[in-house]
Amino acid sequence: MEIKKGIAVSPGISIAKSIVIDSEDYRIPFRKINPSQRMKEIQRVRNAFKEAIDDLTALQDDNVNLEHRNIKDIFAVHLRFLHDRSLRKQITDRINSEQVTAEYAVSTIFRDIAGQFTKVKDSYISERAADIYDIERRLLKQLLGRKRETIEKVTEEVVVVARELSPTQTAGFNRAFVKGLATEVGGRTSHTAIVARSLGIPAVVALEGVTESLEAGDLVIIDGNRGIVIINPNQETIDQYKEYSVEFQELEHKLDTIREKPAVTRDGIKITMLGNIEFPDEAEMVLERGGDGIGLYRTEFLYLNSATEPTEKDHYEAYAQTIKVFKHRPVIIRTMDLGADKYTQSKRFVREPNPSLGLRSIRFCLQNIMMFKTQLHAILRASVLGEIKVMFPLITNHQELMQAKMILRDVMEDLDEESIPYNPNIEIGIMIETPSAALMAASLARDSDFFSIGTNDLTQYTLAVDRANELVSTLYSPVDPAVLRLIRTIIQDAYQAQIDLSICGEMASEPEYIMLLLGMGVRKISIAQPMIPEIKQIIRSVTMDGCNKVARKILTMHSERHISSYLRNATRKILPEIF
Ligand code: PEP
Ligand code: MG
Repeated sequence: MEIKKGIAVSPGISIAKSIVIDSEDYRIPFRKINPSQRMKEIQRVRNAFKEAIDDLTALQDDNVNLEHRNIKDIFAVHLRFLHDRSLRKQITDRINSEQVTAEYAVSTIFRDIAGQFTKVKDSYISERAADIYDIERRLLKQLLGRKRETIEKVTEEVVVVARELSPTQTAGFNRAFVKGLATEVGGRTSHTAIVARSLGIPAVVALEGVTESLEAGDLVIIDGNRGIVIINPNQETIDQYKEYSVEFQELEHKLDTIREKPAVTRDGIKITMLGNIEFPDEAEMVLERGGDGIGLYRTEFLYLNSATEPTEKDHYEAYAQTIKVFKHRPVIIRTMDLGADKYTQSKRFVREPNPSLGLRSIRFCLQNIMMFKTQLHAILRASVLGEIKVMFPLITNHQELMQAKMILRDVMEDLDEESIPYNPNIEIGIMIETPSAALMAASLARDSDFFSIGTNDLTQYTLAVDRANELVSTLYSPVDPAVLRLIRTIIQDAYQAQIDLSICGEMASEPEYIMLLLGMGVRKISIAQPMIPEIKQIIRSVTMDGCNKVARKILTMHSERHISSYLRNATRKILPEIF
């Protein structure tokens, strides 16, 4: 039995056999070799090519009757590449000249080639970069000696163990079989963690070396409440966890009974509880849990989940499906927030040195106006179906907001010309998730109908801590006094301008932060649906007077550690069973 401690990112307990899968992407560290090892590394490259060719030829022979031309073509292209002598020469030259490992040479040469492909304007050629990465993976698999397991084939309950999972991979898991997740990398607000929480799959991240600690098929316990993973547990531990799992389910069940009750504090202040969703079918779950509408629809998942770019019709259908669930209640559609850790199929291979500071979110939309307009067209068309609002992410300055609004107006004119009805008074809001937007909130409020605070990114950018990097996860905290000062500014400026304000970052779904947020003036939150009952229970257990006192005290404190422990104690006093 081995116990590993990581970061709990999605609550619940699962006990099942493990399946170990590769990430979509191998990252090979730079490692020098002794000059005497060069021949050995070159021989490893030769063997890897030979084995990759044998594998692929066998695959081709197995599928000789295949009707599908595209797949036959892919085999042929890959084989042609693997037989290319000049390619092998480039790799061996790099081993000789730079004295690096075979896997490093393969990985860097292939990435160079893929980079050249992606620069070509012709999309047919640039998309071939995907083939290059596929061949690279095939070779690396040989060199690293690991066989890839495919999750698509599982027919029994499993927990997935991986070094890294992309949000797309996670979103594609079959919920009937995938019962838990454990990864080596990631943080509490990485998008993979967010997806796991939305899907209600218990998950733990930041588990150093977990993929090496187990063999596929080993029994694993995932404790998504405490951030623990137990490999090959003994019988006593299994029995304890089975009992704990029943208790946890009973608590969840008990919390579910407050579904029909309003989210009001003991002294009668109503808090609006909205849901965060990634897919339209989650809207139903938000409603079932007692949510008052959708406060954040992360529409970029429409792009991440399909091989081709979604059409206007795809967008419209997704929005229509969502608004059908919440007929007379708000649905806030956030325009695509692509980039950073969320890539479209065609842009996946365009590497940026600092993707979080790069061409992401609204910046990407303002540079890809046709794509942006397609989405806005669908949002506006759906706006007659209910209370749809539109929200722009990652606004960093006033000009971006004005540009985005101008494009929205252009699309309204297009709709007028096409005689398509839409709501001309659709509310237009922005996410405040950069320090610059927080500092300029008073000015941005003049041109926005509402603000939604994205604490996940606001924390990342304020503290200069990558939200998905487990190496710096202890520095990442939304209750760092610097972040709290910005949140206070945003709330005050929204009140002054008399515009609506909500919080849709993960901070609002953390039980211990609720008293502080209410005390700071927040009256509307948007959270992942599994957390709605628990957070509602806290809201129903506090008084606004108590929350105000907590907030006043916290805003005098200077240390994140003191703030965190003060909040934990205050919440524990009110609702011990949550802990
Ligand atoms: C945020 O940054 O807080 C947010 C809600 O947006 P996302 O998590 O999708 O970046
Ligand atoms: Mg964000």
